[in-house]
Amino acid sequence: MAPTMKAAILHGRKRVEKVVEGGRRKVEDVVEGGLNTVETVVEAGLNTVETVVVKGRRRVETAVSLGRRTVEKNLLHRRSTMKAAVLHGREDIRIESVPVPRAAPGELVVRVGAALTCGTDLKVFRRGYHARMIVPPALFGHELAGTVVEAGEGVADFAPGDRVVALNSSPCGECYFCERGQENLCDDLMFNNGAYAEFIRIPERIVAKNTLHVPDHVPLEHAALTEPLACAVHGFKDSHPRCGDVVAVIGGGPLGLMILHVAALAGYETIAIVKHDGQVEAARQLGAAHVVQAETIRNAIRDARALTSRSRGVDIAIEAVGTPETWQEALELVRKGGTVNFFGGCAANTHVTLDTNRIHYSDITMRATFHHTPTMCREALNLIAGGRFQAGAFITGRAHLYELNRVFETLMNRSSEIKTAIVP
Ligand SMILES: [Zn+2]
Ligand SMILES: [Zn+2]
Repeated sequence: MAPTMKAAILHGRKRVEKVVEGGRRKVEDVVEGGLNTVETVVEAGLNTVETVVVKGRRRVETAVSLGRRTVEKNLLHRRSTMKAAVLHGREDIRIESVPVPRAAPGELVVRVGAALTCGTDLKVFRRGYHARMIVPPALFGHELAGTVVEAGEGVADFAPGDRVVALNSSPCGECYFCERGQENLCDDLMFNNGAYAEFIRIPERIVAKNTLHVPDHVPLEHAALTEPLACAVHGFKDSHPRCGDVVAVIGGGPLGLMILHVAALAGYETIAIVKHDGQVEAARQLGAAHVVQAETIRNAIRDARALTSRSRGVDIAIEAVGTPETWQEALELVRKGGTVNFFGGCAANTHVTLDTNRIHYSDITMRATFHHTPTMCREALNLIAGGRFQAGAFITGRAHLYELNRVFETLMNRSSEIKTAIVP
């Protein structure tokens, strides 16, 4: 081949290579540029989306908190007075205009959703006072659930809009009894009253120890049962039932029926000893295996004993009436080695005479249970929220705050009512 020809070919190849190389670079540049553009666009898009989401979230949060604040404002801040029941003395409740409470640091103000009548309130209505809980003139009522409308400075666990049940008392947490887990016996048990009102102030100690969030699916009037149910659960557990025990409950009032229901739900064979027709039905519905209706307490005890194998007596008898007569008779209901729980409190300065031979030679355990502990309150609310507990069965009436006097008069005369929900 001529050298010129060879040179020409070599030259041509170089040119081709150059062109190819140039083209490749161009393509790479374009691809690179494209990728960068795509990345930039995606990045920009993501940023926009994030900004929009964050903005949206902020807007929603602002709206919610504004809504809450507006609700709070309307319910609370525009008002200086509210309607509340004030106890002035024996059978003397007046619905009065009183200042709306304000939350000091650590405190809550709760709009009452439902307040429940209670045997203790009925006693107070009759007597005009309660040595430990209430001295008139005073706001009245202690079983409630509602919605937080104001949270004082430093309250971290609750905010306006939260549904809560605030218990009627709180232990100090520091005394001899509190340190041993017997908070119901606290030397400095703090009580709170004022549930029969539009709003109630919850003191700092109750906010800290005995105020609980109510799950969304639980109606407030059911949640308000937490306090009496905590007493019932406490009384039952304190009787130390053992598997297979027969448990008798004397008394068909709200607490007697609650203890009965708790025992039945826990799987125990139960005997209910009640007085009134309405209570027979209620006891059956709440799971009593046997119901004995008492003409006299002595006959009822005899009939209940006859229901046990060889009439030997029940393993556990829980007295939930609170009269000297039933205290004495309760002792006759248990078997040798059985347990009697004097759950029903008698009037002050009451004394009873007990058969010492019976107690000693039959090896009877006697105990008494008072009030509740923070643990029992939590167990009670869990039980209510769990779905098996028939909360609705305990609320047999509803009334407005203005009808409170009439409600208590009815409760004094008619006994088929269990609890009435007072709605302000
Ligand atoms: Zn109560
Ligand atoms: Zn204490």
